[in-house]
Amino acid sequence: QPSPALAAPAVKTTCPYCGVGCGVLATPDGQGGVAIAGDPEHPANFGRLCSKGSALGETVDLQDRLLKPMVDGQVASWEGALGAVAGGLKRIAERHGPDSIAFYLSGQLLTEDYYVANKLAKGFLGTPHVDTNSRLCMSSAVAAHRRAFGSDTVPGCYEDLDEADLIVLVGSNAAWCHPILFRRMIDARAKRGAKIVTIDPRRTQTGEEADLHLGLMPGTDTALFSGLLVHLAEAGRLDARFVAEHTAGFDGALERARQIAPSAEATAQATGLATGDVQAFFDLFAATQKVVTGFSQGVNQSAQGTDKGNAIINCHLATGRIGKPGMGPLSLTGQPNAMGGREVGGLANMLAAHMHFAPEEVDRVRRFWKAPNIITGEGMKAVALFEAIERGKIKALWVMGTNPLVSMPRADRIRDAVRQLDLYVVSEAIATSDSACATGKKTVLLPALAWGEKDGTVTNSERRISRQRAFLKAPGEARADWAIMGDVARRLGHGDAFAYRSAAEIFREHAALSAFENDGARDFDIGGLADLSDRAYDGYLPAQWPLPKRGTEAKGRARLFADGRFFTFDRRARFVAVQPPALAQGVSPERPLVLNTGRVRDHWHTMTRTGKSQRLSAHRAVPFVEVHPDDAARFGLKDGGFARVASEVGTAILEVTVTDGVRPGAIFVPMHWSDMTSSDGRGAALARGVTDPVSGQPELKATPAGIAPVAYR
Ligand code: SF4
Repeated sequence: QPSPALAAPAVKTTCPYCGVGCGVLATPDGQGGVAIAGDPEHPANFGRLCSKGSALGETVDLQDRLLKPMVDGQVASWEGALGAVAGGLKRIAERHGPDSIAFYLSGQLLTEDYYVANKLAKGFLGTPHVDTNSRLCMSSAVAAHRRAFGSDTVPGCYEDLDEADLIVLVGSNAAWCHPILFRRMIDARAKRGAKIVTIDPRRTQTGEEADLHLGLMPGTDTALFSGLLVHLAEAGRLDARFVAEHTAGFDGALERARQIAPSAEATAQATGLATGDVQAFFDLFAATQKVVTGFSQGVNQSAQGTDKGNAIINCHLATGRIGKPGMGPLSLTGQPNAMGGREVGGLANMLAAHMHFAPEEVDRVRRFWKAPNIITGEGMKAVALFEAIERGKIKALWVMGTNPLVSMPRADRIRDAVRQLDLYVVSEAIATSDSACATGKKTVLLPALAWGEKDGTVTNSERRISRQRAFLKAPGEARADWAIMGDVARRLGHGDAFAYRSAAEIFREHAALSAFENDGARDFDIGGLADLSDRAYDGYLPAQWPLPKRGTEAKGRARLFADGRFFTFDRRARFVAVQPPALAQGVSPERPLVLNTGRVRDHWHTMTRTGKSQRLSAHRAVPFVEVHPDDAARFGLKDGGFARVASEVGTAILEVTVTDGVRPGAIFVPMHWSDMTSSDGRGAALARGVTDPVSGQPELKATPAGIAPVAYR
């Protein structure tokens, strides 16, 4: 006989892991647990969930939860903790200036939390230094979109994967990292005979299932797509009318491509691929009209990430394959709300609602927020921001919902640096390395709501806004991030601007800020949602922006740019003349290997949630390094033995997996684990903090490293 609690209706919410943004039906059992199923009505997943999403019910217990505020390592009242934050920020701003304060946000935050953090920092505290872990995830794709389209707009949607005849995946292990989208690709192959091509130095599960895998040398993507552009031109496969009427810069881009990779043979030489494989890819791309090119971290997390993105987009613009069913470049976002963060301006180079720092934009936001201290220019991006902490330029840091002491490049040095701050505030739901560090002097730890307890919206990779809904009671003294920030703002004298009573109120304000009257050249506009009632917000159905009007466009737009009109001043897209490949700098006899980092199938980020599930942890139980058999022999490594991997900035002890899935000279280390051995730093922490000059995204795929066997245990 089901208990009354079990008979409770399922709550429709959204998975908190990857950027696919799957709909979830959560049925609470009334005792703190929950049964999880896929939402058959959600257009991202139609009822399917991957291993991580299915195991969400195993992650909602209260073990490791932060339940009470702490100040200087002692349990405190909310009154005391909020006073310590507000007093500390005020004192530091007066003594060192507002730009000595920084915020580091997260693609895990809901859009409403992100909006309030951005408004508080940029409008009222007056600091431009607000960046996010999304900098590590997709900022190169954002920059590539802006250069090509004049705005950060994903042109297509997931349906394009269902309708494509060729799906090219660049730097993406979608089978593990976007599994539900990958199922759609496999379905497209079964139903329509679509071909799948993967381009990745590693032969991952995705590569295993592809029709053609191109295991190119790390960092040579711009050569491959330059060669493709040349091939398309010489094979007569350009859409000359589209190029002439709707784009600019083609001749310069083609000329540069010819310098980089003038032929299939030259492309093969530059990328380390067989000429036959390069030619097969070129012929397939040229002959297929319905092509989607999905790209992810292998493209973005690179010192050339923006150029790589533009090299891909160039090929779609040259063939006019954009914004139409079954075709276009498609950035696959890593995090559940990286897109929502972009919408509210939660990146250091944005202001709010896709606006930047043109004087009229600053003025518009200042008037809308009635913000006395509005900033007028960009702040420091993540890597530079943490370097500034090391140099003592930043005195106060507020981290929300992320764990930079594990996930940032040079994490060991950052760990030392944050201990020197005058104020270190961490808002977090679960114990992390960062929360552990926020228990010393001059620290404040604020317990935040977790997934299942908080209410708001997220936006997935195809611009689809969905609701996350609460179905569990707030445990202990945990509170919503927006409410915490509102209370701090009140203590700083800005109560009127932060008098929110619900997430719905914040969402309406955010939507109203995005609305541009009679301005056809705007991208992100959800002004049609500015008058949503509380009830309508509660029942809001997933829809893709732009959503400028109620009613007629309530479901949003699946695709943009089909009319060839982009968001540049002249409405033409831009080709970009990209740079030739810059191969891993710094490889030396001491550090002869190229270290790549990435995800495993069943863990999410730094494992604070997925690590709770035995089922998920069973897939890979310990951190490992993948090594090619030639390198295993060269360095005396055995499969199942242990090795010390050392970069310029850190070391890690890892279990050795010998596999020909990595190239000779390359190794792979997952990003998830922390505090596993007495050695500090692994995965991203071993990276040096080299960044893309346009996006500021750090290189996490090509760090010079050495390796040696160790006796362990
Ligand atoms: Fe969650 Fe992504 Fe899996 Fe969907 S594919 S269930 S969003 S982790």
